[in-house]
Amino acid sequence: MPIVSAKNILLKATHEKYAVGAFNITNIIQMEAVVEAAEKNKAPLIIQVSVTPTKFIGPKVLSSVYRTIAESSSIPICLHLDHCDSVDYCKEVADAGYTNIMIDASKQNISENIRQTKEVCDYCHNIGDITVEGELGTVSGVEDQVKVAEDEAALCDPESALKFVNETGVDIFAPAIGTAHGVYKTKNPKLDFDRLKKIYELINGGEPKTPLVIHGGTGLQPDVVKRLVSLGGSKFNVSTDLKHTLIDATHDYISSHRDEYNPGKVDSAIRSAIIDKINYWIDLLGSANKA
Ligand SMILES: [Zn+2]
Repeated sequence: MPIVSAKNILLKATHEKYAVGAFNITNIIQMEAVVEAAEKNKAPLIIQVSVTPTKFIGPKVLSSVYRTIAESSSIPICLHLDHCDSVDYCKEVADAGYTNIMIDASKQNISENIRQTKEVCDYCHNIGDITVEGELGTVSGVEDQVKVAEDEAALCDPESALKFVNETGVDIFAPAIGTAHGVYKTKNPKLDFDRLKKIYELINGGEPKTPLVIHGGTGLQPDVVKRLVSLGGSKFNVSTDLKHTLIDATHDYISSHRDEYNPGKVDSAIRSAIIDKINYWIDLLGSANKA
């Protein structure tokens, strides 16, 4: 398929009330596994990479591998930079060929957040069809270099959300509604569903135009995930679950084959575990056969 940015894929999802999985990867094996699972399910896909693995592998290398895979794929696939708090690095990664950029200036006050987000939007929209995600309110927990303590987390004010979207020109919007990065300390974290509903109605009432993003998917109960999707969350971020899957699969394989020195078999075990996990999420998000 031709290279596409996320906005149109997510508008379709918003209309049809399913969510596109935005799956974080830290290496090429994970990228291939995520793509293989999405292709088998005929599901649209957003591959996400945080700042640290992007810097470690290199944005141009990741972009080249992604483009080679995506152009010959039967499904639409996007490459997204997750939670970047540097305007300059957002621009550098956009130049390298990512199709989506998340500028995360959510720790700044709202006027500075708007200023930085608008600067990234103007830059990305000027150089091509690049979708920009912005965040208002703060999601607690740790995601790569972004750390927010529970008592620092702030939920997104709906009226401010409308102002933020209108003044920045952001393509997709992540409102903080109580989800968290990492592992939830309780089985039933306190999420503000009414707030999400209100933000959706204010921003997308009538005709959907700015898809909403749910961060912190790992550990949410299936009925909670479905409710968030039904209320308008059309990009669903899953990161910690895939990191745990990678580490656990590696550990389990090596522990039970301690005398074997065959890296390809370790890679196969990782790939297979990641594919199982992506199958679970695609089924839950309702994105199978939507490519
Ligand atoms: Zn996030």
